Amino acid sequence: PVRVRFAPSPTGYLHIGGVRTALFNWLFAHHYGGQFILRLEDTDEKRFVQGAADDIMASLRWVGVDWDEGPDIGGPHAPYVQSQRKDLGIYQHHAEQLVASGHAYKCFVNAEEEEAMRAAWAAKGERPERFRFRGPERDWTPEQVAAAEASGRPYTIRLKVPLDGATSFSDLIRGGDRITINHADLYDLVLLKTSGMPTYHLAHLVDDHLMGITHVIRGEEWVPSAPYHILLYQAFGWELPIFAHVPNIMRQDGKGKLSKRKDDVSTNRFWERGYLPEAMFNYLALQGWSYDDKTEIMSRDEIVERFTIDRVLASPARWNPDKLKDMNGIYIRSMSAAEIADRIVPYLVQAGMISDPARPEDLSYVLQLVPLIHERLEELQQAPELLAFFFQAVPSYDPKLLIQKQMDAARTLDMLRAVHASFNTIETWTTAALEAELRTLVERFSVKPGQLFGAIRVAVSGRTVAPPLFDTLAVLGRERCMARVADAAA
Ligand code: GLU
Repeated sequence: PVRVRFAPSPTGYLHIGGVRTALFNWLFAHHYGGQFILRLEDTDEKRFVQGAADDIMASLRWVGVDWDEGPDIGGPHAPYVQSQRKDLGIYQHHAEQLVASGHAYKCFVNAEEEEAMRAAWAAKGERPERFRFRGPERDWTPEQVAAAEASGRPYTIRLKVPLDGATSFSDLIRGGDRITINHADLYDLVLLKTSGMPTYHLAHLVDDHLMGITHVIRGEEWVPSAPYHILLYQAFGWELPIFAHVPNIMRQDGKGKLSKRKDDVSTNRFWERGYLPEAMFNYLALQGWSYDDKTEIMSRDEIVERFTIDRVLASPARWNPDKLKDMNGIYIRSMSAAEIADRIVPYLVQAGMISDPARPEDLSYVLQLVPLIHERLEELQQAPELLAFFFQAVPSYDPKLLIQKQMDAARTLDMLRAVHASFNTIETWTTAALEAELRTLVERFSVKPGQLFGAIRVAVSGRTVAPPLFDTLAVLGRERCMARVADAAA
């Protein structure tokens, strides 16, 4: 059975590219009826950020990426948090196992000494970046090691990379082409730090093995580390998982990777701005994968059914916020007014436009308002701004806006008084009746429709651009409309 994992480090909020990698794993698991595991890789104490783990889990759940085993729900391979696994001695045990089998060694070289080794290398006329660390302890006798240990010197445990030969591996996404690396280009990687903390390389690999991971689907930044991982699997005598390194997402201008620092890509922000998780799921699935190069709008189930790794592109995806926004608009329009009303209520509450919790009359008012903006809405956060004037007692605006082209103040006020009078007498307060009534006023004053309607629009909304006028009046109701027109005509 397929078993895959997403293994974030809780070093900050979850970048949307991380969600994409998680989603590919999730889709792969669901496509093949396998399991998706969440594991927290929190062994880098220096970069640990309080609250990041909860934030990561909330972000994943928001998009609909849920897990079959994980830190909060447990599972047959618990715990799923590396610091807890470290406390159980799992990594120490495995590192020592490699020392015992001769695949790793205790290294007493400290950071300063390592620097000196690099400098000595450079002094020979070699390029510093070509330096490949190999510990002198590789050739030590057991007695030498014992003596150093007895003296209490701190040590790391390093992988003893063969001096010659090469390692190759294949990657599902690069068409199965084999990638070959000469051992002479590798160095003796640290597996266990002096603190006893494992490095990512040791910890993720031991866990992937113990947790029965069959496919390692992760970001392409790990390609250079993969040869070390292959050597480690071989050293342990474990079966290799299948690797699939997913290309990065590039920034919109194609200049570099999408970045936490430069781009507005924290998953929370999309939630805050009112992206629908359904749209996000669809858009992210297309960041580096396609079904047939043209179909874009697909349901979750369709994507699960269609998702195969051979359709993941080897070339990087490009982030396109406009396209994401368009797609969000499409998802918004595909939903019923009632669904959109439910989803915009929290934004209206947050903007202080309706009370928390919303009263039933607020909810039915919002339900009436949705059709007025439904077509135009691309991010739910636009709703408070678009709907603000529906909630204000009397909108404030510059009275000059009331005066339409080729009109003067006196005529405008006359018209508005007439409008007020007809609002008072109109029998049924409906869109159709309002339209019929106001068109008779256009004739009575022999003005252009835009001259009358423009003035009314400003009077009731305080704006020159607003949702369709007659619908707006109908939803606002007689009382509010009369008060606003009275105010304008005063
Ligand atoms: N903890 C690693 C990271 O955050 C996981 C990489 C992997 O998927 O193996 O990037």
